Amino acid sequence: MKLEVVTIGTELLLGQILDTNAVDLGRELAAAGVEIVRRTSVADRPEMIRAVVAEALDRTGFVITTGGLGPTRDDMTKKEVAAIFNKPLVLNAVVLQSLEERFRRLGRTMPAVNRTQAEVPAGATVLPNPRGTAPGLWVEADGRVVVMLPGVPSEMRGLLAEEVFPRLVVRGGTAGIVVRSRTIRTTGIAESALAERVGEIEDEIAPLTLAYLPSVDGVDLRVTAWRLREADAERRLGTAAAQLRERAGEHVYGEEKTDLAAAILDLLRARTVRLAVAESCTGGLLGARITAVPGSSDVFVGGVVAYDDKVKRELLGVSQTLLERHGAVSEEVVSAMVAGAQQRFGVDAALAVTGIAGPGGGTKEKPVGTVWLAARSGQETRVVKRVFPGDRAEVRARSAQAVLDLLRRLIGKISS
Ligand code: ATP
Ligand code: MG
Repeated sequence: MKLEVVTIGTELLLGQILDTNAVDLGRELAAAGVEIVRRTSVADRPEMIRAVVAEALDRTGFVITTGGLGPTRDDMTKKEVAAIFNKPLVLNAVVLQSLEERFRRLGRTMPAVNRTQAEVPAGATVLPNPRGTAPGLWVEADGRVVVMLPGVPSEMRGLLAEEVFPRLVVRGGTAGIVVRSRTIRTTGIAESALAERVGEIEDEIAPLTLAYLPSVDGVDLRVTAWRLREADAERRLGTAAAQLRERAGEHVYGEEKTDLAAAILDLLRARTVRLAVAESCTGGLLGARITAVPGSSDVFVGGVVAYDDKVKRELLGVSQTLLERHGAVSEEVVSAMVAGAQQRFGVDAALAVTGIAGPGGGTKEKPVGTVWLAARSGQETRVVKRVFPGDRAEVRARSAQAVLDLLRRLIGKISS
């Protein structure tokens, strides 16, 4: 089945927000075998909304819109869609009741103007939205359908999964044909080197396709099964993923959305080992990565943002002589930082980072992007120097990822 998507909101066109609804709809619908043939974004202007939705409806007969449904925007979308279908807006008792209920819970009486929020195009199916005030609406007549979803991304996703997909399945739109992907996550290896290791796998995995997706976190290998029956797609994806994991070997740290920090925490937790960090150029980014993982507190004890040499000396015990002789961005200093963190925090595992994130501060010997990383576990330390490409944010992000990977390799006895 085919449809068009219209995302509504002036802020989308002004570039003030990213159209994540379009991205989510694209991914979710494709995964269910529904093809989006065209996507349009339109400003919050009634005549434009009406024209764009009407044209899309003429082409494909099925349109999903997002945005402009709530109280903040005069409920523009539903009014225009009702006009396209030549339907009046009528008060919906169920929506009115849930609105009144909401106001009651907040201890307020509902202002009369909010009654318009309970108006829906006559005959529309109301898609309850437990995450917000504006429900979704499904309007259908003469085989033509417009589904209106709220703009708030979490509400949109909730309604899509809970209300829209079940109805698409009933209509046979998805017909058991799916587009599915599996992602193998690697880090610490360049895209070209990884491609060499993976080799000529494309013919073997066909009709599945393989994509290399590099980012500051590493290179993801994404294999996709296009428009196959679900069971067939899953079986082929399983085989291809196993082949890819095997070829990428020790560079693989997880699948799908696995975060390296979470993978490290699992490794340490399994060994009942606790972790501390000492960060210079990442300035807390590493600690933030680690603490973003739910349940990190049983492994992570804390860290020091040792930006100034004084902090490196006083809180980590790095000697003034080392700092003077080798400079703060050096093998000697990062080694002293990681040992200091391990000792001062009384933990078994520690990480340290010191580098030049730029844009200033680089020299001929130590250009911008030069970073020394250290990981320590028990009595063993690994230290590496990297010269990362990219701007300040990228160097910092790459540093955090690379030092986590250093620990993964140290613990797993993998060469780095
Ligand atoms: P509400 O009930 O909150 O008013 P609504 O259906 O009227 O919802 P909008 O007012 O258009 O939706 O947008 C609500 C919020 O969702 C805004 O913060 C907006 O930036 C965000 N939003 C709207 N459309 C999109 C989109 N396509 N992608 C990502 N975010 C969006
Ligand atoms: Mg709104």
